[in-house]
Amino acid sequence: MRRSLSAPLSDRDRELKGRIFDIQSYSVHDGPGCRTLIFMSGCPFRCKWCCNPESFYNRQGKLYRASKCVNRADKRCTRCLEACPYGAVSDNSQDPDHPMKFDWEKCHVCTTFECVKACYDDALVTISEEYTVEQIMHILERDRHYWSGNGGVTFSGGDPMFQPEFLLAVLERCDEAYIHKAIETEASASTDVYLNVMRHMDFAFNDLKSMDTEKHREYTGMGNEQVLQNIRAFTSSNCSARLILRTPVIRGFNDTEEDFDKIGAFMREVGLNELNILPFHRLGVSKWEELSMTYAFADDKPTSPEKLESLRKVVQGHGVKCYVGSETPF
Ligand code: SF4
Ligand code: SF4
Repeated sequence: MRRSLSAPLSDRDRELKGRIFDIQSYSVHDGPGCRTLIFMSGCPFRCKWCCNPESFYNRQGKLYRASKCVNRADKRCTRCLEACPYGAVSDNSQDPDHPMKFDWEKCHVCTTFECVKACYDDALVTISEEYTVEQIMHILERDRHYWSGNGGVTFSGGDPMFQPEFLLAVLERCDEAYIHKAIETEASASTDVYLNVMRHMDFAFNDLKSMDTEKHREYTGMGNEQVLQNIRAFTSSNCSARLILRTPVIRGFNDTEEDFDKIGAFMREVGLNELNILPFHRLGVSKWEELSMTYAFADDKPTSPEKLESLRKVVQGHGVKCYVGSETPF
């Protein structure tokens, strides 16, 4: 029987909080049916192409949207400068692209964010919020009326497994409420955590970015050993989730037929037969700017259809079904 949400929470569930940087309802590309997407903060990787770089840290941070900043020659504003107690802000109104300058070393360790409270123009915004298990369950109960028969919740990030205790507490509640659960994961957690989470899942997109661990380290900050170990562990476990591997195509990192031949061979070896190839896009570029970080692929174009087709054929040669972009059949 479905558990009522008024059922008492355990002490652990009541006290736990998870850091979340976005919640989206009505998603149709991140698992079967219509879904609620929960974007959880924190990731051990630092992928140079990441479209959610605000998820890198599992702590509060801020974005500076210079285009909204009104500290211009014709309309001065120095509210954030006056509000910051740490001397991290300086007037830069002579540069219309960056009318305020921030000492990001100071901002990265800030916990008070007075500048954000002082900005009335949404030029400064905090990145994330903390939620309790109960708050998440209320959002899911609200949304479930709009999910189609096989819809549900998808945990994304960041890597949701970066907050395992909170994630597992929510998953247990979803199990009790018969909610369909999906995850988009980097699979970088310890194998124990990875399998504990995957045992709750009905569906998973699991990134496998490259079989070359040195390149993996150069472009993401970490080697691929843990990812490969986790995928192998999944295939010999009793987890019943439908697992689809996912590979973004990144110039100079993994965009050759040889790269995808190695991925296809690995999948054949471990007995997985579905791969989702994601064409490169620049959707995250503005967030890199808002965090004052340098985006390495600012001049790159989206992956050409010809290249995607050639990579697909290589993968299919290993007996693996290959979906490009949002083609994945759910
Ligand atoms: S984030 Fe903190 S340190 Fe940075 S400008 Fe705002 S108040 Fe100052
Ligand atoms: S308070 Fe907001 S609008 Fe004003 S200078 Fe600072 S960032 Fe710009």
